[in-house]
Amino acid sequence: MAIVRDEHPQTPALVLFAHHDDEFFIAATLKKMAQRGPAAAVWLTRGGLHGRLRQAESRRAMDILGVPRRALFEIGLPDNHLIDYLEDAVRRLARLMAAYRPASVIVPAFEGGHLDHDSLQLAAAAAIRRTNWGVNQHPPLYEFPLYHRSGRRLAVGEFLPGPARTIFTPLKLKDRVLKQKLARIYSSQKMILYPMLAFRGGPMMLHRRGEPYRLVSAGRNYTKPPHSGRLAYQFYTRRKFSEFASAAAMNYK
Ligand SMILES: [Zn+2]
Repeated sequence: MAIVRDEHPQTPALVLFAHHDDEFFIAATLKKMAQRGPAAAVWLTRGGLHGRLRQAESRRAMDILGVPRRALFEIGLPDNHLIDYLEDAVRRLARLMAAYRPASVIVPAFEGGHLDHDSLQLAAAAAIRRTNWGVNQHPPLYEFPLYHRSGRRLAVGEFLPGPARTIFTPLKLKDRVLKQKLARIYSSQKMILYPMLAFRGGPMMLHRRGEPYRLVSAGRNYTKPPHSGRLAYQFYTRRKFSEFASAAAMNYK
């Protein structure tokens, strides 16, 4: 089996987001991918109350990052309920993968920050397995961190410890300025995104070493929680990890 030496996600790249604004956390990497070859962006949920506004914000962000409108896909499942529509998500993603034939797939990290993020990774891994890749190997799955609970704080833009090596997209001053500009685009998310970034010294200071991402190991066990103790989403929703674990055990192992 050929070992891919190039650590950059290969293009065509399929970049999957649970929510409109998730892309902020991988923006510079996405911009670089879109310069190297085709990159498509997909949003699984429709953005709740401010759905249309949020979709418009993401489209503006993608204009800036150089991802063309024809490469943007809205799946439109309900926010906060991806786990309840897992089979829909897997089917839609598998269909998209069969048509787009990505050489790499990028998803939010499995980290217990938001159940939709974790559910998306589970769905993407299942869709990759379900797609017929013909003579080609299936594309590698990469993840990028958004946020998770770490003791008493929320760790933003950092990975939980894991076996795969973290790769960083370096951020020059112009990339940091770009991230600041992007953060302002998501005005509908001001109450959530801004305070979260303020935690880390604002949008320019996030990702001091660069934007992190890493490979998801093929046999990842989704029936075990991403970390011990209570997960972040268990503080602000009624969702339990056991719902996710049983879905993973039944259908998507
Ligand atoms: Zn999100």
